[in-house]
Amino acid sequence: MSDTGCDTVDLLVIGAGAGGMAAALVAAVEGLRVAVCEKAEQVGGTTATSAGTIWIPGSTHSLRAGIPDPVDRARAYLDSVIGQRADQHLHDLRETFLASAAPAIDYLERHGDLAFAAAAMHPDYLSNHPGAALGGRALNTLPFDGRRLGTDFGRIRPARPEFTVLSGMMVSKADIPALLKPFSSIANARHVAVLLARHARDRLRHRRGTRLVMGNALVARLFSSLRRHAVPIRFGTALVELSMRDGRVTGAVVQSSTGSERILSRCGVVLASGGVGWNAELRRRLFPAAATRHSLAPDDITGDGIVAAEQTGADSAAGPGTGGLWMPVSMISGPDGQMKLFPHIILDRAKPGLLAVDHTGRRFTNEADSYHAFVEAMLANGCTPDRPAHLLCDRAFVRDYGIGFIHPGTRRISRFIRAGYLIEAANVAALSTQIDVDPVALGQTIAAYNRDAITGTDEAFGRGSSDLNRFNGDPANLPNPCMRPVSAGPLYAVAVWPADLASSSGLTIDQDARVLRPDHTPIPGLYACGNDAASIFEGTYPGPGTTLGPALVFGWRAAMHAAGGDISLASESCCSIV
Ligand SMILES: Cc1cc2nc3c(=O)[nH]c(=O)nc-3n(C[C@H](O)[C@H](O)[C@H](O)COP(=O)(O)OP(=O)(O)OC[C@H]3O[C@@H](n4cnc5c(N)ncnc54)[C@H](O)[C@@H]3O)c2cc1C
Repeated sequence: MSDTGCDTVDLLVIGAGAGGMAAALVAAVEGLRVAVCEKAEQVGGTTATSAGTIWIPGSTHSLRAGIPDPVDRARAYLDSVIGQRADQHLHDLRETFLASAAPAIDYLERHGDLAFAAAAMHPDYLSNHPGAALGGRALNTLPFDGRRLGTDFGRIRPARPEFTVLSGMMVSKADIPALLKPFSSIANARHVAVLLARHARDRLRHRRGTRLVMGNALVARLFSSLRRHAVPIRFGTALVELSMRDGRVTGAVVQSSTGSERILSRCGVVLASGGVGWNAELRRRLFPAAATRHSLAPDDITGDGIVAAEQTGADSAAGPGTGGLWMPVSMISGPDGQMKLFPHIILDRAKPGLLAVDHTGRRFTNEADSYHAFVEAMLANGCTPDRPAHLLCDRAFVRDYGIGFIHPGTRRISRFIRAGYLIEAANVAALSTQIDVDPVALGQTIAAYNRDAITGTDEAFGRGSSDLNRFNGDPANLPNPCMRPVSAGPLYAVAVWPADLASSSGLTIDQDARVLRPDHTPIPGLYACGNDAASIFEGTYPGPGTTLGPALVFGWRAAMHAAGGDISLASESCCSIV
């Protein structure tokens, strides 16, 4: 099947993100005739804009790196983190995940162009729980040379602009220290020189840098694997509805610029269309009211897989927790008038000298905890779509660490102030007026923070007390890498709102990623993975890679099941125009 042609296929995959491309790769390797329909003109979805880390307990990568991560420890960690919420079905899915994670990743590496390495230090997000890993459990995607894709390079959705510098040079976390202090060592200087020289060469021929890292590397590696296995991808082709015969999913109706058509699929359909995304009705139904407005999903992700599955009788539950996985975002208007979102992932919240206050002017959480925990605390503390929380700091903090869109060392911060992004105030009283909180409460909050910064013990929230906090703090700042006193003025604030980085609610699946009805019987021929499926972690965010790890693993399981499944459906003529 060509990129524009169509025949009956063995397996139809909807969506070319991590979950969909993994499923398609496995299906092709297992001998199925597979096709991918991708709504956008590029592959990648949210995956391309992500950090590309996968959470894989017990991997062979951790063994090779000398940081073994026995699965029993991960099991103990999950039991501790998820504890009370535990739903037996999701507990069983976690067992499946624990048993399949390492073999799935080994398989993808063996048969595709995927390549991962265990991060020596990348702590789990609730690192004070028993069984938490400091390193070894999170795998980073290795960089990929986009030039290997030839003209297909343009088919990769670019990274978020916040992850790039100098018109499209991607920057991974490992690059940041050298870029911030290029002259502090020969190694740093060499690293930066190599990056810049490569980027300068790239820009002569390409619209952006070709050294792909993080989620862009993961997507490029999956895409390259699909090309190698000659898996056709139909770009600009969206799932409209699933086709059913005798209670079984037999294909789908898809829409492209040339009209709508029915594609028949003998072993079924894998839904991997990226979850809830911008679907207003699903957001209203599955997310808290305060978190319906902002999403980090690309525009093309509009809940299509979940909606189509529901029409066939599938179960999709809000599930435990807040229905989403969250990041705090700040916003600035771009030159085109579009709002740009900055996800506050790791760069500023844990650094010493920052605190966050809610609408009362009081701290409400340990700001250095995970982005998901931070937003859950916002949601529990009266944040609304019109009432954000504020990150506060002084001028030295902005200079040393940057905040949001403002990079460390930025000299001219006036444009951010003029844009209304950075709020500047001479002192606490003026700041309280600007962010509309009680001046007495705000004064007391900053005074208490400053007292604790001197002793190094955050009496209120334990900022700096966990490995995760300290990992993202500043090790040179003692006694607490996450706290130092805030000066009397001038003071600065940036407003932050909740945004979903992924949905945790979604379709109920079984151990083979088959989509289930409310009575937990499978709908034959229908699979889901990635964000189209409900998170197995019951609304918690155990560690780096919490969504992409299961997306790859259940994508693998779905395709393996389809390949060994019932392919007795008679071959029918396909592509009948609807
Ligand atoms: C800034 C950021 C950083 C992140 N970092 C990480 C991380 O390091 N680790 C981690 O685990 N998670 C991370 N995440 C979350 C992670 O990116 C997502 O959970 C994951 O990418 C979802 O993968 P997916 O395959 O389900 O969907 P996607 O990657 O979003 O792919 C879905 C695809 O389906 C297509 N599609 C949509 N509708 C249709 C339709 N009707 N027909 C056909 N195609 C359709 C879309 O265009 C898209 O290409 C991050 C998220 C953000 C925003």
